[in-house]
Amino acid sequence: MMTLEGKTAVIFGVASESSIAWAIAQQFAEAGATVFLGYQFKFRSRVMQLVKDKPWVAGWFPCDLSDNDEVKKFFGDLDTKVDTLVHAVAYADPSTFRKPVVMATAEEFSDALSISAFTLLRIIRFAMPKLTDGASIMTLSYLGAVRCVPNYRVMGIAKAALEATVREAASAVGGRGIRVNAISAGPIRTLAASAIAGFDAILAHVEQNAPLRTNVTQDDVAGSALFLASDASRRVTGQTLYVDSGYSSIGVPLAGSL
Ligand code: NAD
Repeated sequence: MMTLEGKTAVIFGVASESSIAWAIAQQFAEAGATVFLGYQFKFRSRVMQLVKDKPWVAGWFPCDLSDNDEVKKFFGDLDTKVDTLVHAVAYADPSTFRKPVVMATAEEFSDALSISAFTLLRIIRFAMPKLTDGASIMTLSYLGAVRCVPNYRVMGIAKAALEATVREAASAVGGRGIRVNAISAGPIRTLAASAIAGFDAILAHVEQNAPLRTNVTQDDVAGSALFLASDASRRVTGQTLYVDSGYSSIGVPLAGSL
């Protein structure tokens, strides 16, 4: 069994009960980890509701990852070593999902890449003094990083940058045995996903065409996050692990042919 007994995890990206980060937090706690959350202030009331009966959440603090000082303060104030860092954060201006990618402004492009990719480097930088040797860092990506997906647009470019960031960061911190990986999750209905037009059609398409003929759940992703956080994955770094019912492996959709 994979255990996180004695380990401390810091998780960014809980906004609601449907957040992938929330499923990860729960599975980490069930495996024995002490869990701290960093959340965006605008989701404060939702997060308070979620954590109120959860003694396994050792602390929850607002932290906007776009604000250098807030991230610095978050880790400065954190009075614990950190064995696992989870970055489940992405943002692009909602208008970028609705207009042709060539109409994105420099500011929209830069915001999407900065919040969705650069913030991984920012949290690693300020977490470094607290990270244990052999710590595991992970982020969440999507197929749009490597293939064009309808309506994903600037976010696809941001996810490509994120996956490259994972490889660069893995090389930068690997000397201390610290690992950095991405999980590329299949589509899941969450707040973030609600910005993408036609999302239901994508879910239906994956269910029909993925080798496993089913969509993934937050718990499926959390199971792989648990593997990446545990010592079972101790020599895995710089990778993107697909948790997508195998959808990324197909070339031609086979709906109806089997
Ligand atoms: P979600 O809306 O629950 O989570 C997105 C999180 O990003 C929120 O908690 C939000 O507060 C946080 N965030 C955005 N800007 C931030 C900022 N400046 N500072 C701090 N936090 C900020 O949705 P989710 O689907 O659970 O998304 C989590 C991650 O999983 C994202 O990176 C997303 O791209 C990725 N992902 C989602 C899917 C999917 O289909 N839902 C698939 C693959 C990857």
